[in-house]
Order: sequence, then C-alpha cells, then structure tokens
Amino acid sequence: MVREGGPQVSAALLEVTGITKRFGGFVALSDVSLALRAGERLGIIGPNGSGKTTLINCIAGALRGDAGSIRFDGVDVTRWPAHRRAQIGIARSFQLPRPFASMTLAENVAVPLEYVAHRHSLHRADVGAEARDLLRKMGLQAKADALPAALTQVDLRKLELARALAARPRLLVLDEVMAGLSPAEVDEVLGIVLDLSSEGVTIVMIEHIMRAIMKFSERVVCLDAGRILAQGTPQDVVRDTGVQKVYIGD
Ligand code: ADP
Ligand code: MG
Repeated sequence: MVREGGPQVSAALLEVTGITKRFGGFVALSDVSLALRAGERLGIIGPNGSGKTTLINCIAGALRGDAGSIRFDGVDVTRWPAHRRAQIGIARSFQLPRPFASMTLAENVAVPLEYVAHRHSLHRADVGAEARDLLRKMGLQAKADALPAALTQVDLRKLELARALAARPRLLVLDEVMAGLSPAEVDEVLGIVLDLSSEGVTIVMIEHIMRAIMKFSERVVCLDAGRILAQGTPQDVVRDTGVQKVYIGD
C-alpha cells in the first residue's frame, strides 16, 4: 500500500513467511505463511498436535523457527527474543494460565505493567491504579486483592487477558482462552475479546469452540500436521471437505 505523499507502508501488521519448526526429527510446522492486516480478527483451528501453539510460540518469540521469517509492522523480528517482541506490541496468552500464586490479582497485573511503564510514560505511582482499571475492564474489580487460588476457571482466563493487555499490545494472540468454559462463560469472554477488537487490537485466536470461532473470525486458518490445510471465510473453511475430514468430523 502506498500512501500519497507519504512513505511506503506495509499493508500487513504481521507477516509470517515460510516458518518451519522441528523438534528433533519431528516437523511441527512446515513452511507456514500467513499475513494479518491491522485490526483483523483471525481464527486458527486444527486437530490437537497440528502445530497451533507452536505457531503462536514462533510469533511471540518463545520459539525460534528453523526456517522462515516473522515481520511485525514492517520490522523483521525473526531473531528477536520474546521480551523485545512484547515491547513492540506482540502479546500472547498461555494455554495454561500461570499467574504468580503468592501475588494478588492487582499485583499480578502490575508486574507486566511496570515492565512497560516507561514506554507509556506511566508513572510508577500510577501502576496500581492502571492495574485496577484493567481488572475492571475484565469484570474482576471486586477480586483485585484476592489471590489467584480463589479464582474460578473463567476468572483465571480473564486475569490472563488482563496480564496480556497490560503491555497495551497491537497484536494479541490467544491460545484457547475459552477451553473448558460453560457456554455462558464463553459468551462473556468472547464479548471482552470483541470489545478489544473494536478498540483496534489485532487478534489471533486459537480455539476449539467452533461457535466462538464462527462469531469471532473474519478469516479462519485450519492447520493440520504442521501445514495450512485451508483458509478463508469461517463459512468456507468449515465446509471444506479436507477440514471436515480431519477436524470437524471427529
Ligand atoms: P496444538 O497446539 O495444535 O495442539 P502443538 O503446537 O502444541 O499443537 O504441538 C504440535 C506438535 O509438536 C505435537 O506433536 C507436539 O507433541 C510437538 N511439540 C510441541 N512442542 C514440543 C517440544 N517442545 N518438544 C517436542 N515436541 C513438541
Ligand atoms: Mg495448543
């Protein structure tokens, strides 16, 4: 995309090109490419073991691919460690939330906030208030001084979201944040995620709950055995015979 009179800018916020990841002799991701434009909502589906979490790890920097590149906002971040990627706006949630058990919810959110405070000219003294604001956004304000052990599953997921949002990401990557939740809780978390999207956050959501994927996604990618099996509109992908065979059918 070329802006008239302006510098040349890339249309894609995230560009994953030819990522391959091996664990020993096992190929977990094989030549995976995808691009995401700013503000997009991308759903990722696929059978267990198809490489979804590995792909997230390669995007967020927890793992480095054996081949391929990752560009974020036009910058090649392929060799960057996770904390540097977090600093330029890539945040992720973990499939299994791991909050600090001995810290209150507000303290748990304050930790990543303090880490990025200087970038947002946020004063140390305001970190506590900002942490409580984020918890309020998740509907957790009443539990701000509780310990994570006191939380239900759905509240743990919301805490995980608040921690990811503390870095004020431009790209948020969610790994099965709705797994194990009741239908009402799924709707609640989906509402939060869609609100974040309408605030301009670009979101990649890995999820097995098809109802949530269909409501959330503008585009869906289905992985199978480390490769992209199908991608397109949610409706097209669920109707794809290959997807039906490896995923929807089982
Ligand atoms: P998904 O999230 O789609 O269920 P994963 O990305 O977690 O799948 O895993 C893809 C494949 O890679 C699986 O076969 C898994 O066992 C393997 N794998 C993932 N992480 C590692 C690792 N650190 N070491 C060895 N094998 C791994
Ligand atoms: Mg996974």
